[in-house]
Amino acid sequence: MQKIRCSVCSCMYNAPEENLCTLKDIQVSPCPSAKTGTPEDETCCASYKDVNHH
Ligand code: SF4
Repeated sequence: MQKIRCSVCSCMYNAPEENLCTLKDIQVSPCPSAKTGTPEDETCCASYKDVNHH
């Protein structure tokens, strides 16, 4: 089974002590304004929800 490792601790689905996403699947989307080829400019988790969002 696939694991989603993630260290985005401001996301409500993140388990920072395990470096894991707790969702069983996520959507990854391209970043709209990118064209640099640098990973952090091009790819983005679209399943992110702010930990303070209720
Ligand atoms: S939803 Fe995305 S940003 Fe949030 S923990 Fe999972 S992989 Fe990380």
